[in-house]
Amino acid sequence: MTNFDMDNTQIPAICGGQSVRDVKIYYGRQWINEDDVKAVSETLLSDYITCGPKVDELEHRLEKFTGAKHAIVCTNDTSALHIACVAAGVGPGDEVITTPLTFMASANCALYCGAKPVFADIREDTYNIDPDSIEQHITEHTKAIVAVDYTGQVVEVERIRALCDKYHLVFIEDAAHSIGSKYNGTPVGTLADMTCFSFHPVKTITSGEGGAIVTNNDEYARKLNLLRSHGMEHDHSKFVTPADEDNGGAWYYEQQMIGFNYRMTDFQAALLISQMNRIDSFIARRKAIVKRYNEAFADVPEIIVQKEIPQSDTSRHLYELRLDLSKLKCTRREFFDAMSAENVQCQVHYIPVYWMPVYKELGYERGLCPVAEKVYGSIMSIPLYPKLTDDEVGDVIKAVLKLVNWYKK
Ligand SMILES: *Cc1c(COP(=O)(O)O)cnc(C)c1O
Repeated sequence: MTNFDMDNTQIPAICGGQSVRDVKIYYGRQWINEDDVKAVSETLLSDYITCGPKVDELEHRLEKFTGAKHAIVCTNDTSALHIACVAAGVGPGDEVITTPLTFMASANCALYCGAKPVFADIREDTYNIDPDSIEQHITEHTKAIVAVDYTGQVVEVERIRALCDKYHLVFIEDAAHSIGSKYNGTPVGTLADMTCFSFHPVKTITSGEGGAIVTNNDEYARKLNLLRSHGMEHDHSKFVTPADEDNGGAWYYEQQMIGFNYRMTDFQAALLISQMNRIDSFIARRKAIVKRYNEAFADVPEIIVQKEIPQSDTSRHLYELRLDLSKLKCTRREFFDAMSAENVQCQVHYIPVYWMPVYKELGYERGLCPVAEKVYGSIMSIPLYPKLTDDEVGDVIKAVLKLVNWYKK
């Protein structure tokens, strides 16, 4: 998943002539500056390096940014999704509906709780989970929906909310891609019952590893706070057993749930606060690059541009180049390799989750979600990150158009 686990060997251009670029660029990367470094080093030399004031400050920043009442930061989005499922009451015998076109963590969170992930298919135009398919998969065991804002585009919120109301389901939004996106003007963070973010280096803002859950629900927030740190309560007013009864003093604490250690450190929080100071410019830059790609590819018949629904004001994390393979003489694999040879290192997001051997062993079979499988077979993520220069964007476009010309029928 990182941009560093790919090889950087120079291969000659597959599609004739010289490679468009001399130096390889990757599909995503972080942007750390001197302010970030300063924020981290100051925090490292302070009294608290974990569970301190920077974590509190970050939570307030996230509440302000998203408009949500509560933010709970944690180690990563994987742990955020896990405790969101626990707080939602997901357990053995339950089913959780999600999309197959996502990072495996969106489905694994159900497995962590002993529940069964159920895959609904996606829409062929937006690549987001299809509410019609969700409804077809709802059973008496369905407990929650983990809806992923794929590429940053917000899922169809009203329709998913209506299903959750009708069937009494918890709406969890995996917003790993979509911090800063809005739906009908409302920021991601208050659309679902719980919204989970990732701060991995390829995401919009980063703390190295990091995650958060935001919610307007007091009860979920209380549980999430406990679950993040061993299920441990320190607030005497919330004790199940009064401290006096156990001869307890100021040291007294009690474990009220089976929780985890999913705490974020203060120096990571400091890094993220510093990154949040620049989030608006990061998002603006991402949008500008998306606009250039869309314009460059709009009239290329061999390329299918992802549909954007008007409700979503999208802070885009990924740009999906989708090939119309019926108009090309190559496979997706050949196109991907040829892009590498032009020194534009793409990635594919994502292999359908249920294709993974672990899921196969659990009884999931190929063919379950035909649309997701079809889309998976024709996409690749091309470079999109704020530090990408205009020249580099131009090179990516040049490489794509060169290959389309080379391979077109
Ligand atoms: C990155 C990502 C995750 C996992 O995030 P981590 O912070 O690395 O745990 C989960 N879901 C989606 C959709 C992602 O893109």
